[in-house]
Amino acid sequence: MRSLITGGAGFIGSHLTEHLLGLGHEVVVLDDLSTGSEHNLATVRDDPRLRFVRGSVCDPDAVERCMDGVTAVYHLAAAVGVFTILDKPLESLRTNLAGTETVLEAARRHDVPILVASTSEVYGKNTTAGLSEEDDRIVGSPLKSRWSYAEAKALDETLAYLYHVEHGIPTVIVRLFNTVGPRQTGRYGMVIPRFVQQALTGAPVTVFGDGQQVRCFCHVLDVVPALVALLADETAHGAVYNLGNAEQITISALAGKIIEATGSHSEIVKIPYTEAYGDGYEDMQRRVPDCTKARDRVGFRPHHTLEDIIRAVIKDRRPAT
Ligand code: UDP
Repeated sequence: MRSLITGGAGFIGSHLTEHLLGLGHEVVVLDDLSTGSEHNLATVRDDPRLRFVRGSVCDPDAVERCMDGVTAVYHLAAAVGVFTILDKPLESLRTNLAGTETVLEAARRHDVPILVASTSEVYGKNTTAGLSEEDDRIVGSPLKSRWSYAEAKALDETLAYLYHVEHGIPTVIVRLFNTVGPRQTGRYGMVIPRFVQQALTGAPVTVFGDGQQVRCFCHVLDVVPALVALLADETAHGAVYNLGNAEQITISALAGKIIEATGSHSEIVKIPYTEAYGDGYEDMQRRVPDCTKARDRVGFRPHHTLEDIIRAVIKDRRPAT
């Protein structure tokens, strides 16, 4: 078995790389290191079954160079993080649209099963507690950069689905809800590594908005085996699956928990959305997954609690003593 992981030097991709190598697979990583880092692959750098290719998913030649002998593709490469999307909206949109089409096209030419990573963002402002795959999308204006990530990922899903229907390529789409764990950086906006970093350095913990928005956080090590199980299961192909943890918490309560877990003296400061993200930003007030479909198909059941996740991120971020 030889897997291509696009975005394999990123946060989720590097954990998937380790997991597949652990299963005895060969792994080709294609990553442009825009938000990923070779450091994320430090534990497996010397493994002879790993090949690292620096390049963009938008470059058909780079993708083609990675396809030799590949039996499965995991397409995780994307422009990610709210800060990235707002800072570089056009470039992000191009990466997330053209990159996916390029990789799907390569999978078609080589007739290889492909998993496409999508996001819970596609549900937009739908606050149903227990979002399931058939639920409606409620998104804001396409002129608001905030929504361009959801728009691009929704189109990626349609593309992946049509490659399955029209070209017969085995495809799986996963909608990842807030996924967290070691190696995730707060640089691009993700809340848990940001709060942990702030708490560990005694800086104010920055709660955006009123802090009453609800999220559910899933440990990356719960998500990664499900990616492999879904792609390996022929009956899972041609469909979309939510992957996340249903344990809910408000962002204010999260800030308190992280301050307590780190033993920090940081104070909590509330920052208006306009100051945090600029004018016209719309946040999701609640985002909670229903993962019954993935549970029924491949037995997906997250085992790590929010406490486990916070502990793991603190361990990852705390300077070695
Ligand atoms: N957030 C926050 N402070 C931060 C970073 C994020 O209050 O320093 C909030 C953000 O506005 C959102 C939630 O935490 O309501 C989760 O943000 P993240 O970017 O991690 O993921 P999202 O769910 O927005 O994709």
